[in-house]
Amino acid sequence: MASARIARRKTYDGAGRAVLAHDSPTDADEHEQVSGERYFREALALLPLAILILDERGVMAMVNPQAQRLFGYEHEELIGKPVELLVHALHFDSHTPRWDDPVAMQQARGFLPLDDLRARRKDGTEFRAEVDLSAFRFDGEHVTLAFVIDKTERYELLRQRQDLAHLTRVSTMGQLASSLAHELNQPLTAILSNVQAAQRFMTADPIDLAELRDILNDIVQDDYRASEVIRRIRAVVKKGDLDVIPLDLASVVRDVVALVHSDAIVRGTRVTLDIDAALPPVRGDRVQLQQVMLNLLLNAFDAMNEVPPVDRMVCVTLKPADRGMVLIAVRDRGHGLTADKLDKIFKPFFTSKPQGLGLGLSISRSIIDMHRGRLWAENNNDRGATFYVALPSGDATPEDKSR
Ligand code: ADP
Repeated sequence: MASARIARRKTYDGAGRAVLAHDSPTDADEHEQVSGERYFREALALLPLAILILDERGVMAMVNPQAQRLFGYEHEELIGKPVELLVHALHFDSHTPRWDDPVAMQQARGFLPLDDLRARRKDGTEFRAEVDLSAFRFDGEHVTLAFVIDKTERYELLRQRQDLAHLTRVSTMGQLASSLAHELNQPLTAILSNVQAAQRFMTADPIDLAELRDILNDIVQDDYRASEVIRRIRAVVKKGDLDVIPLDLASVVRDVVALVHSDAIVRGTRVTLDIDAALPPVRGDRVQLQQVMLNLLLNAFDAMNEVPPVDRMVCVTLKPADRGMVLIAVRDRGHGLTADKLDKIFKPFFTSKPQGLGLGLSISRSIIDMHRGRLWAENNNDRGATFYVALPSGDATPEDKSR
């Protein structure tokens, strides 16, 4: 464990490398330590995160190049300096460990996020930072690994990703516009003809009240139907912050299947839905998961454009899976995927459709990643492809514990 060795040595040479201060190691020991340390240093350099290794006094014993870039310092300018040079807690409270308090660090064992810190670059500019600490004890020494995350950058990225997701959602809904207009027209036409019938009944003498009551009931039902369609559309095109709540995945999927109902009819496709009765809830964002389902269903419809109408069928199943996961499968009988496409289709801008954007699956995958789940595709044995979404069920989502 090179980091612990580094922490034990309290002096550093001009190049910022830790210098052995005691223990009088043999040449072999020293060689092993130096190569171990180099290996460790190289591993840190490969990680796409700013990382600081602190000794028990909160002094930087090692920093990776990403951390140097983030803060604008040279390596030598940081080694041996207190971590407060770079980050300050905005609010110290009883839960915030002090860098220079090894006992608190030790108690903070494992994973401890500090999400409201002020970080300062060498040029004096500041940014909000989140620091995830992993404190552990090795060979009697307290060593701390600190991952520094630039919150401004992360949130900007997240916001851009959400904007893009919203845009593609709206554009996907655009594809459904004509069938949705048709679906909305049906209850409106029914309402109109019922009202006209009621007007005729009103002129009769005596007025048939029972008949009139039935007509009014029909009008109410049709009105509900129309507002349901509107509710579903609004739910999908809504723009808002991520809203992670316990969800009944069955209702999320049912809503999307209802939304594509008319489109499926126009395309001569049957959609079946098979939901396991013992489905546990998942934690997630309703709108985003609907976006994924919408995308998978419309892709399945597209894949069957050239298939004879009798064979156009999509089966959606939802069932509990191993290790507290919930599995959604969207199975079509379309043209399937060639081996080279199985991975490529998840890359941004990959499309085989003349009007395609090639963003649906890449955005869907990032949404499912964000939910700590997995999205992948497989070819069916007979024909077509199946897209799988595995999501951690409510109880299994680690988000509860860490946030
Ligand atoms: P787009 O639909 O705009 O092309 P996507 O990212 O949703 O973008 O899909 C990328 C590509 O993946 C599609 O163009 C198609 O080639 C392939 N694909 C997606 N779903 C299926 C499916 N169910 N069967 C076969 N190919 C599919």
